[in-house]
Amino acid sequence: TPVIGVLALQGDVREHLIALAAADAVARPVRRPEELDGLDGLVIPGGESTTMSKLAVAFGMLEPLRERVRAGLPVYGTCAGMIMVADKLLDGREDQETLGGIEMIVRRNAFGRQNESFEAAVEVAGIEGGPVEGVFIRAPWVESVGARVEVLARYDGHTVAVRQDNVLATSFHPELTGDHRVHALFVGMARQRMGTVGATT
Ligand code: GLN
Repeated sequence: TPVIGVLALQGDVREHLIALAAADAVARPVRRPEELDGLDGLVIPGGESTTMSKLAVAFGMLEPLRERVRAGLPVYGTCAGMIMVADKLLDGREDQETLGGIEMIVRRNAFGRQNESFEAAVEVAGIEGGPVEGVFIRAPWVESVGARVEVLARYDGHTVAVRQDNVLATSFHPELTGDHRVHALFVGMARQRMGTVGATT
């Protein structure tokens, strides 16, 4: 069974822990660098990316997280988490740090400009059984992607779900819907990685 951490500096950590457990992973909150050891995957939750970025620096997590992403740890970012795995931001705060991992430019609060929060059915490549209910809360969108990025979903002409190798990101919040298919997709990525590097549990 894969062990998946949820970065617990700020954001909707609890909802992800519940969704991951429902998707057959062992889930645990992670705040310190040493808690990254032994993980088969890591979720970066929704919340406020500027605060999360500051806390990552304050907790000495920024570099350890960057190293894990580079080393191939499966990482899934939702909303603020998507912002955290972007290589570049538009409308980011000036000193806002990201981990990077996906060669893309993400525009913060992009949908929020039009519409603070809304729900919409989103068809996601690789997810069977019909569209997922996308919950968008002051959500970012992906403005542009590099050649290695797979676009998994678009909504209203904007890219809202992407994957590059070990890193998955969505503009919306599947952890708030009770539909665990996106988490199951991510747990599958973690399982696949366990198969290639040897089981940790
Ligand atoms: N607007 C937030 C940010 O920039 C993201 C919102 C969310 O995670 N729901 O971090």
